[in-house]
Amino acid sequence: MEICGNREMELLKKLGFTRVAGSPEELQAAEILKAECEALGVPAILQDFEIEDADIGTATLEVLEPYNQSYPVTGYKCAQNTFEDGLTAELLYVEDGEDVNLSEAKGKIVLVNPGYMRVPLFKKLMAAGVAGIVTMEGTLRDDRQETDLSTRKLRRTLRAFGSVPMVHTRVLDGFDMVKRGACKAKLVLRGATVEKTSHNVIATVMGTGKPHEIVSFGAHFDSVDFSKGVYDNGAGSVINMEILRYFVENPPYRTVKFIWYGSEEIGLEGSWAYVKAHQEELKDHKLMINVDVGGPVLGTDKVTVTGEEKLTAFADYMAKICACPAKVKQGIYSSDSIPFADSGVPAINFSRDGAPGASYIHDRFDTLSFLSAEALAHTTRLVLEVSRALINGKVFPVERKIPQNMVEEVEKYLYKKELAEVSAEK
Ligand SMILES: [Zn+2]
Repeated sequence: MEICGNREMELLKKLGFTRVAGSPEELQAAEILKAECEALGVPAILQDFEIEDADIGTATLEVLEPYNQSYPVTGYKCAQNTFEDGLTAELLYVEDGEDVNLSEAKGKIVLVNPGYMRVPLFKKLMAAGVAGIVTMEGTLRDDRQETDLSTRKLRRTLRAFGSVPMVHTRVLDGFDMVKRGACKAKLVLRGATVEKTSHNVIATVMGTGKPHEIVSFGAHFDSVDFSKGVYDNGAGSVINMEILRYFVENPPYRTVKFIWYGSEEIGLEGSWAYVKAHQEELKDHKLMINVDVGGPVLGTDKVTVTGEEKLTAFADYMAKICACPAKVKQGIYSSDSIPFADSGVPAINFSRDGAPGASYIHDRFDTLSFLSAEALAHTTRLVLEVSRALINGKVFPVERKIPQNMVEEVEKYLYKKELAEVSAEK
């Protein structure tokens, strides 16, 4: 069977609408993928799982001194609410949250540089006793009419360290506040947590020789606010559909499972749910193959192996033998391979990353305009060549084990040490 980039592109066009975790559009995309599997003669099922979400009623930020102005903000889902009349406090710009920045931050609303709140900074802000947090995204070059302000969530991992009201604003507006010396503000956040249902799509092609041994292909199909999510990760979704088509026509020696994950963008929720619901089956999983981002005309194929060095060398050799240029390294990749690696299943992550300035991610510019059928087909060939040799081998040469250095990387990524410390304190 010939890999066909144009066929991949056709499916990618069908999926090219915003598909936020737990939304009706995400379910619609799941149904499209399911129907596509079934058109290939492979039954597919939807696994549903609950996700934590929130409806934000009010989120406002008003500078009170030395001037008066309201700025557009979005409210953090699942962060602590203010009272209805809001939180009025001194406003302090604390940059990256160095100790000196935070020495007088107690009881204040703080504006921070990083757009994504992560554990180390959040932990410091909680320890410093801040009363509220403002984060920023975008660039000074933004045109308000052409940029969107996303809605963030204070994830459970962060909430383990505490919670305060949080809002998100543009870099443009953060800049304006700091330049004009904003020093007192009123922040209002009123939201309510709600449960939503998200879905994984699961299709299986039984192995002809060793059906009890499983290799799974994974790609997330959800996107974020405002993003059509074709590069991230409609591309990986259609690449795996093409690989499924190959194994329908060329039955595999081992069983191959294809799983399209929902809710990756809000914290790998789909793959965590899969792993949790398939503990028994997981013992038979030999390898996980994940594809996350693909298709840019200008870019580089990357292969990140969360497994032993020998597997890294194998992937590197295969890429060279098949004349597929790719940067291969051992490491972890922030995607659905993490829950598998955390359960002891080695993983190979494929991505085609856009060249600097030649791709857009997590915003309204993630569109088909910078992708091509040729680039999709190129990555598909690479994924197929590397995985096929393993799936059809008489012996599966990869040990079902994560080497110690990778175990440490995964634990660091999941902030296991910090979480264990905070739960011990409680
Ligand atoms: Zn992604």
